Amino acid sequence: MADETVLAAPLPVAPVRADVVVVGLGASGLEAIVLLAEAGLDVVGLDANGIAGGAAGANGGFLLAGLPDFHHEAVGRHGRPAANSWWHRTVEELDRLEADEPSFQRVGSLRIGADEDEERDCLIHLAQMKRDGIDALAYDGPEGRGLLVPGDGMFHPGQRCRGLATRAVAAGARLHAPAPVRAVDTGRTLVDGPAGDPREIRSRVTLVAVDGGLEDVVPEVAGTVRTARLQMLATAPLPPPTVPRPVYRRFGLDWFQQRRTGEVLLGGGRDVGGDEEWDAPAEPSTAVQAHLDRLLAELGLDWAAVTHRWAARAAFTTTRLPIDAQPRAGVHVVGGYSGHGNVIGSLLARQAARRILASS
Ligand SMILES: Cc1cc2nc3c(=O)[nH]c(=O)nc-3n(C[C@H](O)[C@H](O)[C@H](O)COP(=O)(O)OP(=O)(O)OC[C@H]3O[C@@H](n4cnc5c(N)ncnc54)[C@H](O)[C@@H]3O)c2cc1C
Repeated sequence: MADETVLAAPLPVAPVRADVVVVGLGASGLEAIVLLAEAGLDVVGLDANGIAGGAAGANGGFLLAGLPDFHHEAVGRHGRPAANSWWHRTVEELDRLEADEPSFQRVGSLRIGADEDEERDCLIHLAQMKRDGIDALAYDGPEGRGLLVPGDGMFHPGQRCRGLATRAVAAGARLHAPAPVRAVDTGRTLVDGPAGDPREIRSRVTLVAVDGGLEDVVPEVAGTVRTARLQMLATAPLPPPTVPRPVYRRFGLDWFQQRRTGEVLLGGGRDVGGDEEWDAPAEPSTAVQAHLDRLLAELGLDWAAVTHRWAARAAFTTTRLPIDAQPRAGVHVVGGYSGHGNVIGSLLARQAARRILASS
């Protein structure tokens, strides 16, 4: 494992300047930093907590093609051309991740109906995918009935971030944490220094690549973005293949998968927590964790030791489309992945980085 204290150091006392400042050292920000630094730009990356200090270091590791909504819902909401365009762009990004990330596993994903209503919805979902020429199969197996998307996969999000941070530093980027950003504006980023002292970093361009809490850094998106807490637990390693591929249930509200190393990761229950999950701190709650325990029991795994319980924050948009905006000259913003940022986040952050390069 890379030594994060070496990869991300506190801000130095001397003034800091850069061609580009990237706010957020999750997978999205790090993807952009690698692309920009390897192209020769002088890049500074800032994070309030550290490398993978947000959801990128604490998520389920599902790698799913398409928008956050299921494909038939995305077609209904955004139209067929837009939904299909997002599908194909994210498939290309999945292919890139497969070639680039050692922890990537192309195991497919399952959507399982938790009851007859949802099983019917799975059939509608499958029919839309087939109409659009997307590879998907009806599924009837130990997990239940639903559909299998063979092209999806999973990875280890923390390993991904550490690998990207190592490459970023090797390419000359300077990563700093803890460095909480208070505000961004054209040509300058306001950040708290190591002693809480206000500091200003000058740069030609700023890219904000923050998901949970994006509305705090970029007030312009506050009307369309809101942050929710998502919760998970992990068991001690179990013999594989207890859960051979990532599974979604209850219309995506619950999910589980098993790591290559045997731990079963299980998450969801945001609806159980209700309004309390919005704008909440990244701490597990009793009600949602009890729901996750029940889900573990439903899977026949109540005997397994639970070794970790945690929460992290993710930004949801009212449009269910991710944010890719330029609210002020020289300020680029990506985020708001509605709980599905592993593929779309890297896609949009790299796209923003290419735009920055093109204007350099
Ligand atoms: C429990 C959970 C499970 C999930 N499971 C999946 C999944 O299986 N598949 C999937 O695709 N998506 C999943 N998601 C969503 C996914 O984790 C996120 O969409 C993705 O991590 C976004 O990556 P990011 O780099 O854009 O943002 P983040 O991971 O949020 O990283 C942003 C970084 O910015 C930093 N930051 C925030 N505010 C500031 C500030 N003011 N100043 C400086 N730094 C700041 C944070 O510390 C953080 O390190 C899940 C989310 C959660 C919470």
